[in-house]
Amino acid sequence: MECPHGCSSPMETALVTRIFYRGAEPVVIRDLKVHVCPECGYETLPLKSACIVENVLNERLEPIGSFSAPLFQPA
Ligand SMILES: [Zn+2]
Repeated sequence: MECPHGCSSPMETALVTRIFYRGAEPVVIRDLKVHVCPECGYETLPLKSACIVENVLNERLEPIGSFSAPLFQPA
């Protein structure tokens, strides 16, 4: 898969943890597969991952647990 920004390196697959918002409620998806460009950092969701996110946001997937962590924000 090629980076749409025209970089010469092929995009790599990575597993990431991401927070999405279902309305005002944050939900965390762990080990979500994304394609990342090693040169410019451009990230894209494979179709399968996009479906997972959609299922989570539509409450079609059951959570496996809950996640809480300290929250930081730049001053
Ligand atoms: Zn790129």
